[in-house]
Amino acid sequence: MAHGSAKIGAVPDSIQAAPTGRAKCRGCGKPIAKGELRFGESGPNSYGEGEATTWFHLACGALMRPEKLGPVLESQSEELPERSFLEECVRVGSEHPRLARLVRAERASSGRAHCRSCRELIAKGDWRFALQTFEEGRPNPIGTIHAECAEAYLGTADVLSRVRRLTPELSEEDAEALSRTLTQQRPGLAKTQGSEEDEENQHGSGSA
Ligand SMILES: [Zn+2]
Ligand SMILES: [Zn+2]
Repeated sequence: MAHGSAKIGAVPDSIQAAPTGRAKCRGCGKPIAKGELRFGESGPNSYGEGEATTWFHLACGALMRPEKLGPVLESQSEELPERSFLEECVRVGSEHPRLARLVRAERASSGRAHCRSCRELIAKGDWRFALQTFEEGRPNPIGTIHAECAEAYLGTADVLSRVRRLTPELSEEDAEALSRTLTQQRPGLAKTQGSEEDEENQHGSGSA
C-alpha cells in the first residue's frame, strides 16, 4: 500500500513510555498501562491531514507489526524488557509474514464461519485462529482458520507460545487441547478458487 511515511518531516516510528493509561493497543485492543513501554507506528492520518501515530504494546508490535518494529529495535541499544523475545518474534515474523495476522485462538462460537485456508465450515466448538490485517493503521478482521490449517495458511504450526501470549485467557487445559489439535495439520488447498489478493480487497469480510 502506498503511504507517505517516507516523506520529509514524517514522525519516525519509536519506542517510548506511555505518558497516560488512556491509549489502547491497536493490535489487541486492550489499554496500555501508564509508564509501560509502547511502540508507536506512524502513518497517514486516516481521519484527516498529516501523520498519525498508532500505538501497540511492545509484545503486540513484535507479534503483529514485526516489519515495523524490527528496524526500531535494531536502532535502539538500550535495555528493553524481553528484548530477546521481541527480536525472536521479529525474526520468525519475517520468515512467515502471515503470522502477523494472528490475533487470538478461540473455540468457534457457531458452525457458520468458513475457514479462510481450506474453505470448509469450522464446526462449533473447534479451535480456530482469528486473523486481521492492518490498513492505514487500522485493524481489519479478515476471518478465521482451523487450528489444523495453521501450517497451510501461516507457513508454520509452531504457534502455541505465540497464541498463548495473544490469548492470555486460555487455561492450561485449553492450551493442552489446542496443542493436540495443532499436531493434526491438514494439507493446504490447491490455489484454484481465486487469489488471496482479490479477497484481501474486500474490506471487513471476516465478521462471520
Ligand atoms: Zn496489545
Ligand atoms: Zn481449514
